[in-house]
Amino acid sequence: MTGAIRLDGGAMFGVVPKVLWEKVADVDGANRILLATRTLLAVDRSTRRVVLVDTGCGTKWAPDQAERFAVQYDPDAILKALAAIGLAVEDVTDVVISHLHFDHNGGLTYWYDEPGGPTRLSYPQARHWVHRGHWEHAKQPHLRDRASFLDQDFAVLADSGLLHFVEGESPDPPFEGVEWLVSSGHTPFQLHPIFGAGPTRLLFTGDIVPTVAHLPLAWVMAYDSHPLATVAEKQAVFRRCFKEGLLLAFPHDSKVGGVAIDGTVERPIVARTLPL
Ligand SMILES: [Zn+2]
Repeated sequence: MTGAIRLDGGAMFGVVPKVLWEKVADVDGANRILLATRTLLAVDRSTRRVVLVDTGCGTKWAPDQAERFAVQYDPDAILKALAAIGLAVEDVTDVVISHLHFDHNGGLTYWYDEPGGPTRLSYPQARHWVHRGHWEHAKQPHLRDRASFLDQDFAVLADSGLLHFVEGESPDPPFEGVEWLVSSGHTPFQLHPIFGAGPTRLLFTGDIVPTVAHLPLAWVMAYDSHPLATVAEKQAVFRRCFKEGLLLAFPHDSKVGGVAIDGTVERPIVARTLPL
């Protein structure tokens, strides 16, 4: 967990009334709920591959913006997580960008000179994976979602030689042990990596199921570009959970890193929480 932000609770739960969501969310006096900004670190010792999924909201925050979103960010969180398993930032081989909303990937870059000044990549050795369709959208977002994309987070990637595009609706796996799932309900061409093999495969849910409270099908964000598509994408994910035993890792839950689910596709429940 790299830190946390607070976003409007109503926007985070769409059509769900506050009397319901306030029971499961940490809400403050400004109606904002607490959202962790989690990254997922996946290490394959045999191939020396170190994959970071999303980079958190980063440090490029002017004081008024930081206050608006109650930004908390530990700039050393990823460093400490790597050090705990004997690795350093230089060992990160791949960064997977689920999508370029600032709360997920502000940490791709940092100000190296002065606040508001030029930026550098935080992981200059790593290949950076993003879906081409999402990259194109992020460069020219819609009026409705443009506040979520900050050019300073990703502009320097364009000419870095480190940008690798994932293509199409069913992209080929980038390397052994990872496959891609693509969704477009929350934002166009969001990328969800699935790690592992057999009964321990783990899906990064990204913002189609941002927290454990978003397991119910109708609990989708008002921020979504196509909320009905998100519902269908959640159903497809839950179907795979029951068929293939997929486990889920959440990006925004402040207490639960991930879960195995039980119940049904229409009414999934938590079978057990994962130590993520
Ligand atoms: Zn998002």
